[in-house]
Amino acid sequence: MSYDAIIVGSGPNGLAAGVTLAQAGWRVLLLEARETVGGGMRTAELTLPGFRHDICSAIHPLGLGSPFFKNLPLADYGLRWLQPDLPLAQPLDDGTAVTRHQCLEETAVHLGRDGATYRRLFAPLVADWDKIAAEFLGPLRLPHHPLAMVKFGLRALWPTTTLVNALFRTPQARALFAGLAAHAMMPLEWPLTAAFGLILGTLAHRVGWPLPQGGSQAIANALAAFFTSLGGEIATGHEVQSLADLPPARALLLDVTPRQLLTIAGEALPPGYRRQLQKYRYGPGVFKIDWALSEPIPWTAAACRRAGTVHIGPTLAEIALSERLVWQGETAERPYILLTQQSLFDSTRAPAGQHTGWAYCHVPHGSTQDMTAVIEAQIERFAPGFQDTILARHTMTTHDLQKYNPNYIGGDINGGVQNWRQLFTRPVPRLNPYTTPLPNVFLCSSATPPGGGVHGMCGYHAAQAALH
Ligand SMILES: Cc1cc2nc3c(=O)[nH]c(=O)nc-3n(C[C@H](O)[C@H](O)[C@H](O)COP(=O)(O)OP(=O)(O)OC[C@H]3O[C@@H](n4cnc5c(N)ncnc54)[C@H](O)[C@@H]3O)c2cc1C
Repeated sequence: MSYDAIIVGSGPNGLAAGVTLAQAGWRVLLLEARETVGGGMRTAELTLPGFRHDICSAIHPLGLGSPFFKNLPLADYGLRWLQPDLPLAQPLDDGTAVTRHQCLEETAVHLGRDGATYRRLFAPLVADWDKIAAEFLGPLRLPHHPLAMVKFGLRALWPTTTLVNALFRTPQARALFAGLAAHAMMPLEWPLTAAFGLILGTLAHRVGWPLPQGGSQAIANALAAFFTSLGGEIATGHEVQSLADLPPARALLLDVTPRQLLTIAGEALPPGYRRQLQKYRYGPGVFKIDWALSEPIPWTAAACRRAGTVHIGPTLAEIALSERLVWQGETAERPYILLTQQSLFDSTRAPAGQHTGWAYCHVPHGSTQDMTAVIEAQIERFAPGFQDTILARHTMTTHDLQKYNPNYIGGDINGGVQNWRQLFTRPVPRLNPYTTPLPNVFLCSSATPPGGGVHGMCGYHAAQAALH
């Protein structure tokens, strides 16, 4: 059997590349090391029977906001997005919470004195999202929408701490923005971290922060089903060790990061390119916990019980310290935590009346520290009695994550640091970052622009490079 393209790895980007090539009429084979497809989009009973946990990704503003996914008939293949009552809540020490509503106006009203500033900051970005996505969710190029790019760029380039201190007067608004920007996994004093807060905040108002019914595996299953409906073939349980193991094809697209590319392509890559790949930087990791719970998390602030995602970190200072320490090889006593509670909005995740909880905090690259007690104490601070609701837990250190998925080097869930040096020029500065010096080998993982997240844009752009 001969193929036009072979794809290695079935994360969102591998599947997106496969779909794009199959749509163009190419004969495509996708090889995946594990027994199921999905990469960072798998759901499994990690704790107790009947409790279905998202092993990696959980909340998908980038999925629903993805210009690529938008054009696929994924609903026909079983994908149903659920919107929580509130995209986001963030509990504060006085027992209240600051909230982000899907409605921009409602969010602004809740921010009181900072409402007007919030409106001025986000309203133009929400209106311009399609243009911003076209410019920023891909490789650097001459802008097609220069005005939208300048409007976004003028704010996005700032360090988060500078931007929020300059714009907002209330601790609530500052904490809310810091919680978004901390998804960057970089110190909030670094330039460009504001971009992450702006994009995730804009998406909350434009498309919401949805979760797929049944878990993130539903996105993987829908993409895989659409891919096979187009004639694509999938072989799971097939780990590729070397390019030499692959049958000949016009194009090989690898959903792996530079370190694995170095192993798989070996000496076939020219020494100069190998040296550049060796310099590629991976960032901090995460420590992940899933819980089976006897009841919903007993948050003091009622708003947290209505939110799909809860950011734990009540002030800008506490979140900034947490992120800074991670880069110094340490962890905070009170770390910034990302928590989701899917079963509140999706009854398929847990037995009736019971619930799931999903959370992680950032830890130094390659850390083996067990953060269970620290994370649970942080939640208990804002939800007294939480520990009494735990029926079972499943934890993953950075080593467990990398063992589970070799793309998570040192526990880095974004396929490499996303700072100004690497965001648009990942994996190496090159006119077309998806190409390699080997004319038929392309990289399609989150180690290419626009980086981490379930959006499929890296795979889509890599497939375009292969087609051209
Ligand atoms: C704990 C956690 C939480 C996250 N939360 C979110 C979230 O809520 N929302 C969001 O948008 N994103 C989230 N992410 C990030 C998101 O999952 C990743 O950015 C995304 O999955 C990257 O996609 P990818 O296709 O580049 O690679 P991956 O999804 O990592 O897929 C790579 C695939 O390639 C396979 N593979 C690797 N090497 C080989 C080989 N040699 N041979 C064969 N197969 C191979 C792997 O098994 C894997 O299936 C999270 C990630 C983690 C770990």
